[in-house]
Amino acid sequence: MRIKAQVAMVMHLDKCIGCHTCSVTCKNTWTNRPGTEYMWFNNVETRPGPGYPKQWEDTNRFKGGWELKNGKLKLKAGGPITKLANIFYNPDMASMDDYYEPWTYDYDNLIHSPKSENIPVARPKSMITGKYIDKPEWGSNWDDDLAGGSEIVPLDPNVQELQEHISMEYEKTFMMYLPRICEHCLNPSCVASCPSGALYKRDEDGIVLVDQDACRGWRFCTSGCPYHKVYYNWNTHKAEKCNFCYPRTEAGLPTICSETCVGRIRYIGVVLYDADKVKDAASVEDPQDLYEAQLGCFLDPFDPEIQKKAREAGINDAWIESAQESPVYKMAIKWKIALPLHPEYRTMPMVWYVPPLSPIMNHITNEEELSTDGYIPAVDQMRIPMEYLASLLSAGDTEVIRNVLLKLTAMRVYMRGKTVGGIDEFRQS
Ligand code: SF4
Ligand code: SF4
Repeated sequence: MRIKAQVAMVMHLDKCIGCHTCSVTCKNTWTNRPGTEYMWFNNVETRPGPGYPKQWEDTNRFKGGWELKNGKLKLKAGGPITKLANIFYNPDMASMDDYYEPWTYDYDNLIHSPKSENIPVARPKSMITGKYIDKPEWGSNWDDDLAGGSEIVPLDPNVQELQEHISMEYEKTFMMYLPRICEHCLNPSCVASCPSGALYKRDEDGIVLVDQDACRGWRFCTSGCPYHKVYYNWNTHKAEKCNFCYPRTEAGLPTICSETCVGRIRYIGVVLYDADKVKDAASVEDPQDLYEAQLGCFLDPFDPEIQKKAREAGINDAWIESAQESPVYKMAIKWKIALPLHPEYRTMPMVWYVPPLSPIMNHITNEEELSTDGYIPAVDQMRIPMEYLASLLSAGDTEVIRNVLLKLTAMRVYMRGKTVGGIDEFRQS
């Protein structure tokens, strides 16, 4: 057994209001320099929608992550030979069009423009070329107001298709927010993709970082990460990514996105895991078994034997105590109400999500379903389709999602009974 400590995050999606405060404070802290204009270490996607970069989950177009070949894990976005062939052109990489050409506004045009028939506007100006952009075609949250219809459950719709479906399926339209940072994976494919060894997973806390001196700008990490969370700085010609605000966490402070989150959706904590189990867990054949396999890597911080071994492995008492109090341990491991994003990528991601509850679609109540044993409208008739949540958080296994939603619904009913109606009346009802 090789015990390691890992800092991780749970995001409670019911509480996200899509205000983007996290993205802006992260940007002001980390990516407000030349070459980083288009980068969002933290971004908030309106789902269903193409996301950022556009259609990043389209595995036909973008590779990244791991696949199983003859029972062994292989990088999907090319090994060393492909790397050599792709020095000048990496076909798996997202282009600037997929991110967006960042622009600022020319306020001079607003203030000093000559008299004319039309009211002057602050014109968008490319932050890369310095030229005016007549009609910006794409931005990181362009899809904010589009959402989708529950019949389609698309992972990567193009905008036009989405609009058509919305008009056809208006009554079934749904949306949710999905904030995203680097997953600081237990089995990071970005690290394995780097020919220079510049990406590494810190031993003490599992944070995945880029050594700026070692980076040679190959950009295999940008295509190797299936979450598209490594970016290329066109000014320094180095890779950059979310660093879990390590200068803050080292000082005992939360990440800036967590500290400033308006909805208080983010929980940070330490978990203990057995590093010897990670490769086997990432190699289980059925993608729907990956979630359970990942859970099997975590260790009980209350177990005296684990504590002893953790100390022998150099993990101090403060970290062990932290693992005991960890909200990530409680929500992801003990209560099992938080799930990993796209476990099928086999990177063992460490940002976990509590799926959102959504209103019940009463107007489409199906009598036949209602009479089915175990059918619970509060869960089975939610506006956000279970299949959609499963495509994000459980490799398509709707039972996993349903179990979480049942727990959340029970807790909500209990708390409502306790605080609104009085728990005794609730029990009687
Ligand atoms: Fe690496 Fe982060 Fe991507 Fe995981 S999510 S592969 S740690 S960049
Ligand atoms: Fe959601 Fe919090 Fe970010 Fe606002 S600050 S968008 S509530 S994660």
